[in-house]
Amino acid sequence: VVDIRGAVKRFADLTVLDHCSLTAQEGEILTLLGPSGCGKTTLLRCIAGFLTPDAGEILIDGQDTIPIPVNRRSVGVVFQSYALFPHLTVARNVAYGLRMRGMAASEIDKRVATALATVSLTGFEARYPSQLSGGQQQRVAIARVLVLEPRVLLLDEPFNALDAKLRGTMQMELRQLIKRLGITAIFVTHDQEEALTMSDRIAVMRAGKIEQLGTPEEIFDRPRSAYVADFVGASN
Ligand code: ATP
Repeated sequence: VVDIRGAVKRFADLTVLDHCSLTAQEGEILTLLGPSGCGKTTLLRCIAGFLTPDAGEILIDGQDTIPIPVNRRSVGVVFQSYALFPHLTVARNVAYGLRMRGMAASEIDKRVATALATVSLTGFEARYPSQLSGGQQQRVAIARVLVLEPRVLLLDEPFNALDAKLRGTMQMELRQLIKRLGITAIFVTHDQEEALTMSDRIAVMRAGKIEQLGTPEEIFDRPRSAYVADFVGASN
């Protein structure tokens, strides 16, 4: 469970998170949906620990995360650009975080094999990123995060670099994977259709706050404000 309570984040005189509160339940895929600049990425960065909120609390499974350093949080992040290391093989890319933690080589090999199997890339261990399709690269990026066994997965427009068809396939695959692993996922997009396909619940953001939180059906069929209706393209 990720519990955000009254998070505030300012950059100089710009208030990007304005007493933002939101709870993501265990095992759910919660999508943050909203226009460019409403604060989605900033909220993810605060949960991951790359940014510290100016006020408010962020709890993971009841524990206050703010004093916990980034690399000790049980949070994995997948960004829109996958940023694989081009000079490392697939196996080395996935092993990277475990090596940084000083894990024994035999244990690393086991975990890497499991993570690659999870994203259906067994047999690709020795390839380099340049020898993979966009979708395969994105699956390596996901394996690289899953290998660390996070309790919470944060995804920031992870399919942006993919064409429409591959995007559809990856959406289904990722949804099934998250459900199978039972982890809590917070997913950022500004694409309404993607939110509809991926989410258990959708939080529509407006100027640093949650404007409406509900199931895709509630958000699309019963928008509570003109802002939400406009954004999801529905009519009231
Ligand atoms: P997008 O869909 O375009 O990614 P977003 O909803 O994720 O948008 P954020 O990236 O959270 O929006 O940015 C919200 C606002 O905060 C923007 O106006 C942005 O310019 C500003 N901002 C973000 N990071 C910083 C920073 N480090 N310093 C100053 N301003 C920032």
